[in-house]
Amino acid sequence: MAMPDLIQSVANSFLELTQGTSATPANLKTLLEWIKRRSTACTDGWSRKSAEMAVRIKKCGSNKKPELYVALDGPEMARPLPNGRTWMARDEITYKYFPTTEDGLLRAIVFLKKSIHKFRTEGTCDTCEPPTKRLKADGMPKCEDCMMTEAIGF
Ligand SMILES: [Zn+2]
Repeated sequence: MAMPDLIQSVANSFLELTQGTSATPANLKTLLEWIKRRSTACTDGWSRKSAEMAVRIKKCGSNKKPELYVALDGPEMARPLPNGRTWMARDEITYKYFPTTEDGLLRAIVFLKKSIHKFRTEGTCDTCEPPTKRLKADGMPKCEDCMMTEAIGF
């Protein structure tokens, strides 16, 4: 039985890196190898920054157990220093580790897309103590850190 065109179109959109470029194993391998090379050459691995947020993907871990470290940071904000001066920094509002495989990279891309959407629609956890604000945990009113702290009554 053939899949209806609309369903096929929606299914394909989840399997595309960009419009017209599918998330094939070969395309993912090309990007994964580039991120690995970039992680060797640059301490940040691959990153993109805007005033609103920043994203980072980096190969880390040992050669025996390499991982992809994926992070979404909030806007750059001034932080006070004890000496009265300030420095500019971003909150790491969420992060996750993935295998350094084509599937791991695809999951990392989906994680970042989902996290960016969640940040834009929900903002960050209301009860996080400065200086770090995090995304709310899936299906919960606060981030994992605040939920754990509250759950144990600390
Ligand atoms: Zn929180």
